[in-house]
Amino acid sequence: MSTDSPKTYTIKNYGCQMNVYDGERMAEMFAAQGMAEADDKASADLVVLNTCHIREKAAEKVYSEIGRLRRKDGTKPIVAVAGCVAQAEGGEISRRAPEVDIVVGPQAYHNLPDMIATVGRGERVVDLDLPGLDKFAKLPARRKQNATAFLTVQEGCDKFCTYCVVPYTRGAEISRGWAELIDEAKALVDAGAKEITLLGQNVNAWADGEQDLGSLIRVLDKIDGLHRIRYMTSHPNDMTDSLIAAHGDVEKLMPFLHLPVQSGSDRILKAMNRSHSRDSYLHILDRVRAVRPDIAFSGDFIVGFPGETDADFEHTMSLVRETGYAQAYSFKYSARPGTPAADMADQIPVEVMDERLQRLQAQLVADQAAFNRNTLGKTTEVLLERPGKLAGQLIGKSPWLQSVHVLAPGLSIGDVVTVDITDSGPLSLKGEPKMRAAA
Ligand code: SAM
Ligand code: SF4
Repeated sequence: MSTDSPKTYTIKNYGCQMNVYDGERMAEMFAAQGMAEADDKASADLVVLNTCHIREKAAEKVYSEIGRLRRKDGTKPIVAVAGCVAQAEGGEISRRAPEVDIVVGPQAYHNLPDMIATVGRGERVVDLDLPGLDKFAKLPARRKQNATAFLTVQEGCDKFCTYCVVPYTRGAEISRGWAELIDEAKALVDAGAKEITLLGQNVNAWADGEQDLGSLIRVLDKIDGLHRIRYMTSHPNDMTDSLIAAHGDVEKLMPFLHLPVQSGSDRILKAMNRSHSRDSYLHILDRVRAVRPDIAFSGDFIVGFPGETDADFEHTMSLVRETGYAQAYSFKYSARPGTPAADMADQIPVEVMDERLQRLQAQLVADQAAFNRNTLGKTTEVLLERPGKLAGQLIGKSPWLQSVHVLAPGLSIGDVVTVDITDSGPLSLKGEPKMRAAA
């Protein structure tokens, strides 16, 4: 069977911001091939499922999504499964789901146009190569951007936390080159970006020779038209002196640090192979606070890692209370096939995990609400990012990554406005614009 070349596409992203970035780069590639994003997703000629494998039932969700792609008239789009489920499941996907034409890993998606042509000749394709950073050189130039843009600087991970699939699905830790990143950042700003978030599985492991992420941020700081710099996700062990110092002296680097800790118990951190302790983590937070007193912290937590006792969990709760996170992500431990923790003794019953997660999240939500309340009455800058639900309403982010709803006649997405914070809720703020700080 051969298929006409697709004219429209849709991309469904699951999981982390790195998948969002990859999805944007795929869209740019399809646009360069003359394809348009489908207005009606259900009738797109090409569907890309850009998958995530980090937690439970990821593969099952993808299979049920694939099942829904077959249409009532018996036709179906070209189906490509990309991302980490593709990498982990490989050819098994096309064996189990005959609807799937292409299985492509996260390091090989630059080959999609060739793969689509192969499908047009009636064949199915699996490409799970992990060829370093080849894809970046082969992707087309960046196109028109939103006010906020992602820029992947580093991929993969060598840390091998015992619960995590990333080292297996994304490959070894590898950094993109200094010069190409500066060029891409400038292109993003020329295309309309006001804020750039540097991305990596361990973004602060980024290095090029002697240069570390702190040095890269200092150079990006010099780009005219760029207002804000952020980075995520960081590992505590890669918080270099230079990066911590950048929080104190680079004005465009926003006062927000997402630094996952996973657990407050040293025993569990050791079993997780985190290679930092509770104290060394808290010491990093102190050092960042010392150079940037208004810094807001965010973290990732896993509850119910194998062998986690009530006492271990209480250590996590006390670390959370001690830190006072502005926001955080918390997850039940999910045994990932092939990882060392999946075979550990003392897997924790789901009811215990549920109860611990509920308690942890109640504390994190209360801390987030308290952090938001502290912003009430303050005047701060907001970068307007998207329309709100009400007429004339725009939603943007404060420097501390809080969502701020602004009734803003005369203002536009991409404006940086000075706003009085007039109301605070658990998840967002309301503000009244005073004046436009920058266009
Ligand atoms: N590299 C970052 C670090 O080391 O902390 C985090 C990247 S990881 C893709 C994102 C988050 O997913 C982790 O911080 C962890 O909290 C969560 N995660 C990873 N594997 C998990 C698992 N097996 N079960 C539950 N949560 C998991
Ligand atoms: Fe996964 Fe992060 Fe650990 Fe790497 S450092 S194995 S990405 S949790």
